[in-house]
Amino acid sequence: MLRVNDLKVYYKTPSGYIKAVDGVSFEVKKGEIFGIAGESGCGKSTLVNSLILRKPPMIHMGGEALLEGKDIMTLDEKEYRKIRYTKISIIPQYSLNALNPTKKIREIVWDLAKEHGYTDKEEIESKLRERLRMVSLSEQVANMYPIELSGGMKQRVVMVVSTLLDPKILIADEITSALDVTNQRIILELLYYFIKEEKIVDSIIFITHDIGLLDKIADRIMVMYAGKAVEIGPTEKIINKPTHPYTQLLLNSLPRLGINYEKERLQGIPGEPPALLKPPSGCRLHPRCPYATDICTMKEPEMIEIEKSHFVACHMYRG
Ligand code: ATP
Ligand code: SF4
Repeated sequence: MLRVNDLKVYYKTPSGYIKAVDGVSFEVKKGEIFGIAGESGCGKSTLVNSLILRKPPMIHMGGEALLEGKDIMTLDEKEYRKIRYTKISIIPQYSLNALNPTKKIREIVWDLAKEHGYTDKEEIESKLRERLRMVSLSEQVANMYPIELSGGMKQRVVMVVSTLLDPKILIADEITSALDVTNQRIILELLYYFIKEEKIVDSIIFITHDIGLLDKIADRIMVMYAGKAVEIGPTEKIINKPTHPYTQLLLNSLPRLGINYEKERLQGIPGEPPALLKPPSGCRLHPRCPYATDICTMKEPEMIEIEKSHFVACHMYRG
């Protein structure tokens, strides 16, 4: 479906290049929810935005992203506009504020459809009604302004708008972080329903800083650290048998139910994520890694397959 090879996306700043995505490779398969996890600032949003919303100071420095065999990193703005919402669609971070406050939902949807060459207003209206029903919202919502909707309702409307033109890939960037747990659950269930039952989209890329959420929804997970992919594998392996030291630290830092923190302290990740203007040499985790040895400071570890479909970039696992 989507194959990303050695993608490099930097930001040009007066102090130099911020290496936000620095040689990341992965694939997203048809029918799957592909989760991407990592601490704030590790490059998750840059990675997915570069596939669809690339604009200065973001610069594509190398690598490719093949969608149905075509490299979307080489498309110009006009070609991009054509595939946005129809082939690949994103629910960006902070999307709750993305809906035009001066327009009713039906006008927002119609503007989008017109931009993509639709001329039959009734066809779009009927699709909007159907999709609103699917996300358990009343048809009346079409007549409302964004300000009249609660956070949870807005997030569902954003899902409807992003998927109205039946994109193949839907990217969901931190779409649950501004919601309470009840609304988080509803949104996760809806995403699942969209892909696994209604098959409205072929694949979903779900981005979160909370790796625990991915346990509930993702088929496979990629863990990122400081602009690099460090572990990729089936969810069950990543959550229950994390192999990369960073994935282990990330999972150990999650608060758990049933733990009395007066008796057992929450294990945070030591140190701070590095500045990506001048990332550490060798393995970027070495200043924070409890297992670092000399080689880690000098040589970047390659991503290797340690068992079927489970990949790790760490010198401890080299052959
Ligand atoms: P978060 O969840 O907090 O958004 P993230 O993992 O999605 O984190 P990015 O937002 O992709 O990370 O940021 C990756 C790096 O790129 C960070 O060092 C960030 O400061 C930098 N960055 C992001 N946007 C810009 C920009 N417009 N100009 C310069 N640097 C940027
Ligand atoms: Fe830690 Fe070295 Fe592995 Fe990096 S390569 S994660 S520093 S052991």
